[in-house]
Amino acid sequence: MKDASRYVAGSIDSHAHLELFSRRGLDTAPLLREARAGGLAGIIDVGVLPSDFDRRVSAFGDQPLVSFTVGLHPTSCEPGRVDAELTLLEAALETRASADRTSPVAVGEVGLDSYHSTEHVRLQVDVLERQAALAVGHDLPLILHNRASEPQMLAFLRRTRPRGVMHCFSQDAEYCARCLDLGLYVSFGGNITYRSSQDIRAAAALVPDDRLLVETDSPYLSPQAVRGTANHPGHLGFVVEALAALRGVSAVHIAAVTRANACALFGITPWSADAA
Ligand SMILES: [Zn+2]
Repeated sequence: MKDASRYVAGSIDSHAHLELFSRRGLDTAPLLREARAGGLAGIIDVGVLPSDFDRRVSAFGDQPLVSFTVGLHPTSCEPGRVDAELTLLEAALETRASADRTSPVAVGEVGLDSYHSTEHVRLQVDVLERQAALAVGHDLPLILHNRASEPQMLAFLRRTRPRGVMHCFSQDAEYCARCLDLGLYVSFGGNITYRSSQDIRAAAALVPDDRLLVETDSPYLSPQAVRGTANHPGHLGFVVEALAALRGVSAVHIAAVTRANACALFGITPWSADAA
């Protein structure tokens, strides 16, 4: 299938995994050039292991579009590695003291995942709470991953009331309303464009403008129009346009409100070619 990019100028991709692009056959440098030329205003490069942080910063730290997060993904919560990874997480968070542009803007992605295995559910909850406490200590939001763990995630949110975003929202409108009641931002990705995703679209219709984010979750989760290809930030426009269509507003409006929300949540300033 021929790849096609779609940019809505001024939008921010709130969730990408740049380090994983090469595994899917993508060449990151030209894609980031194309993203700047297409008018993208930012990319949040999301970590899955605190031990990936230094490597990601050396690989992409010179890219003005890119901001970094650091966190331990629930599917990597194995008893033998948790303590070492959480020590590295603390070290990465300490770099915030230097106020460097590459210091973390969020703790994530973190969360709960019982899709493939329920073996370490209790450890996942414990690690999530420890990371949430570190986020509070550094005044950072959480980027939350939730798969097949809805009741446990709601219980965590009620106990902890974190500031953050439910990334790649994939549940229904009722669950979305609960996340909104608990103060979260809600981020939508390429699966909002799938034919079978009526529930996700119903959820997206009820998120107020000031809680909405967009993301690619690239290199995963390509939108319908480019499904079967590796995903990248150049496909964000398909998500922006899908949200615009279902909410009855312009794509430019969706780009503007989701950019403002990403800047407020992560404490970043939008990149623009004019200012560069
Ligand atoms: Zn992700």
